[in-house]
Formats: sequence, structure tokens, C-alpha cells
Amino acid sequence: MNESMKRARDIITGYSGRPLRIMEVCGTHTHEIFRLGIRKLLPEQISLISGPGCPVCVTAVGFIDEAIWLALEKGCIICTFGDLIRVPGTEMSLAGARAKGGDIRPVYSPLDAVALAKEHPDQQVVFLAVGFETTTPSACLAAKQAKAAGLTNFSLLTANKTMPNAYQALVGSADAFLYPGHVNAITGNGTCIRLCEAQGVSGVVAGFTASELLTALAVTIRLLEKGEPFFRNCYPRVVKDEGNPAAIALMNEVMEPCDSEWRGLGMIPGSGMKLRAEYADYDARVKYAMPVITGKPNPACRCGDVLQGKIRPCDCKVFGKGCTPMHPVGACMVSDEGACAAYYQYS
Ligand code: SF4
Repeated sequence: MNESMKRARDIITGYSGRPLRIMEVCGTHTHEIFRLGIRKLLPEQISLISGPGCPVCVTAVGFIDEAIWLALEKGCIICTFGDLIRVPGTEMSLAGARAKGGDIRPVYSPLDAVALAKEHPDQQVVFLAVGFETTTPSACLAAKQAKAAGLTNFSLLTANKTMPNAYQALVGSADAFLYPGHVNAITGNGTCIRLCEAQGVSGVVAGFTASELLTALAVTIRLLEKGEPFFRNCYPRVVKDEGNPAAIALMNEVMEPCDSEWRGLGMIPGSGMKLRAEYADYDARVKYAMPVITGKPNPACRCGDVLQGKIRPCDCKVFGKGCTPMHPVGACMVSDEGACAAYYQYS
């Protein structure tokens, strides 16, 4: 541990002021803070609460049902990031759909799904586009490449989400946000600066190493002690105020804002991204005239409260009993970025 890390550690462990609630907006922060043992340093006055920044966790139950409909009713090959496969839908997960004969394939990138469509021109391929500003550009690139190649057997089922309106829904739920560094690397810091200046919302952009997380927490604590709203970028080696203009331009070229349903949080106006009309041929809902499919979450699952920092995962009655990583009841226990999975693995 170098000197600056020791100083940050001492600020954290030496804190003895009023109770503080700091929200890890990003699920990767939750996991890294657990994994690096940083939680053990926290005095009891500091609570780290989980937020909605896990793309799989916030994907609505109805989206899983829509994907299953495409697999089983329309016979499409469903390509998806792997951790979505075990997320429960209303009646089954995509793994369950696979057991019923659905062709469900994990991929590492949307471009893998485009390549699969090129290899199998006689089959329809649908990529499940979930995630925040971090992953949305790659889905946009896939749609653009498919259109440029004239593919007629590739489409996207979109549930892409954006953070600004989610922050609005979370205002007041914590004393400060630990902002997700990889999202801000794309979007820049404008939203966070405006939240601070216009609404007095405090927060710090954090990276993911031990040094970066200790620094971000120490800065947050010091500035909360002063009592004035603040914004600081503690991840400047990656995050610039202007973000990534090329990625932003690509997203705006291919997609446009829409209302979006968040698991547990409900419909948040303007918090999603959907394909523009010029890309309607690549929109699975349009292409397959999909009926309205409304999912029903398991009533025992309290992912919504976990994702808003209202409860800890271990406060859910089925945590570690009916709900484990092997037998997840909710999405937060499935994903590598899920808060319930982090608590189960490390606490
Ligand atoms: S422990 Fe399981 S059921 Fe409870 S909130 Fe977490 S994912 Fe949902």
C-alpha cells in the first residue's frame, strides 16, 4: 500500500462524524469494494448502499418473456450476454427456454451475433441489447454493420438504459453517489455536474482499483464533512468532462430516447434507448409484430428495494435460503454485478 492509499485508508477508518449513506451506483463497484476488503475498513457510521447500476439486474421481467417468445414462438436464435440466460422471467428463464428447445447462445459482443447471422442466412438471429451507455454503442455498431451488409436475418431486442433519469429517481436516497467510472467515460460528467449545481446532489466518479476506490471514498467523506454539495472526478485517467464524442455520436445516430421499464423501479420516462425509425427493420419488436408482453416478478423478490438502496440484500427473506446463485429468484442474485450475488459471495 503506497502513501496516498494509506492516507485515504486513514481518512476512512478515522471517520467519526454523523452517519453517512454512500450509494455505489455501479454493481462492479459493489463487487470490487467487497472483494478488496474495503467494506471491512468502514466505521459503523458509514453505510455503503447498492444502486441500480447492474444492467442485468434492472432488465425487466417482461423483457425476458419477450426474448423467450422470440425463441419459442418465432424460432429465432437468441444471442445474449451469458448472465442474462439464468435471469428469471415470469414462467422460466432463457435457460428454461433452451431446455424446451429454444436456441439460446451466449456471445461476448453484439458483433458476434452479426457474424452468426452472416454464417446462417437461413436462420433469424436476435441479439438481446441490454446495458447502459457503456455497452449501448456496441449494439448500435452491430445494427449499423448489419444494415450496411444488407442483412435481413438480424435484429435487436432492445432494453438499453441511460443513467440521467435514473439518478433523478434516486435523488434523496443517499448523501452522495459513487458514480460509475465506465459510464462517465462515455457520457462525460455533464449530468453529474448539473445534478450538483441545480439540485445539490453530491457525488464522486470512481475507478475500480483499490487505490481509486479508497481515494474516491476518502474524498467523498472529506467533502461530506464540509457540508456543501460537490462533484469530483476521481477517475481522471479515463473519464473526461466531454466523455467519448464518437460513441455518443454513434448512439445518437442509431438510437433515440424512450421510456423504459426498470426491474423493481417501474417505468422511468426517457430512461431508455430504442432504435430509430431508419433502423426499424432491425428492431425485433417491429419485425415480428410482437404483442405487448408484461412480465410478473416473483412476489418474494425484493430486487427493486435492493436496487434503490432501501434494503440490504440480506434483509430479503429468501436471501441465501430460497435464493442462491445456483437457484436465483431474482436478477440481483444472478449477475456478476448483482448486489445480492456480491453479498452472498463475500459477506
Ligand atoms: S435475495 Fe434473491 S429474491 Fe431477494 S432481492 Fe436478492 S435476488 Fe431478489
